[in-house]
Amino acid sequence: MEAERRPAMLEIAGLTVAYGKRRALEGVALTVGAGEIVTLLGANGSGKSTTLRTVSGLVRAAGGCIRYDGRDVSRWSADVIVAAGVSHVPEGRDIFPDFSVLDNLLVGAHTVAGRDVPARLEAAYALFPVLRERRRQRAGTLSGGEQQMLAIGRALMTRPRLLLLDEPSLGLAPRLVREIFAVIRRINAEGVAVLLVEQNARAALALAARGYVLETGRVVATGTSAALAVDPRIRAAYLGLDPSRPEGLAGYHRGTRGEGATP
Ligand code: ATP
Repeated sequence: MEAERRPAMLEIAGLTVAYGKRRALEGVALTVGAGEIVTLLGANGSGKSTTLRTVSGLVRAAGGCIRYDGRDVSRWSADVIVAAGVSHVPEGRDIFPDFSVLDNLLVGAHTVAGRDVPARLEAAYALFPVLRERRRQRAGTLSGGEQQMLAIGRALMTRPRLLLLDEPSLGLAPRLVREIFAVIRRINAEGVAVLLVEQNARAALALAARGYVLETGRVVATGTSAALAVDPRIRAAYLGLDPSRPEGLAGYHRGTRGEGATP
């Protein structure tokens, strides 16, 4: 409830996106408050990545409105949106495998004034000490978890106020998922709002204040994470839990330590 009273930093209304004749989003509405973590859940192909790509200016909307900090940014170019404080970590991470870790981070800093770069690098290294250790290493030789850290570190080089994260847990072992999610929590504690797309609904609902569920390009459910976690439809479709049992995410943290989350 507290989170919902904050002014919306990102406000999407009636968002419609098509790839050729194929509609990927149909009237999507969602908000992210300043400093809030909001998750966007849904099956493969439901339009989660398209939502993030449209916010970050990589895909043009056919209709609807995207307001960031009260301004309609739906026609802004991707560069201008980054400069305004929105940073996107795409699914698959999109790092430059032949560049060093350091050069990948510096590429991320292209919109930041030169004197800020050393401070931004220090901040990224403080969050992910392994990136400092490996700064001269080719990024393509990093493990999947380290590449995800690099992708997030690179996104932070622009000093975002809103971070769009697409499937940060994809392909990672449970220990690394916990590590990445703990870092997202720390980033958020420093005031950065997060819109988190995740297949790992349990982890996402345990982290986020609120969530939205997409099905074939439409929002079919929304609410606080606690409410979504006990919604029978969500439990059955996304959490793999018995819809008739009332417990929320109480088992989640136990489960992520490998002690058996599913009641
Ligand atoms: P996933 O978890 O599999 O990435 P998603 O929920 O992120 O799924 P999107 O990638 O946004 O879903 O895709 C939404 C719909 O748009 C799907 O039907 C997909 O096939 C289609 N789509 C996505 N990108 C393109 C593209 N570049 N060209 C054509 N169709 C696309």
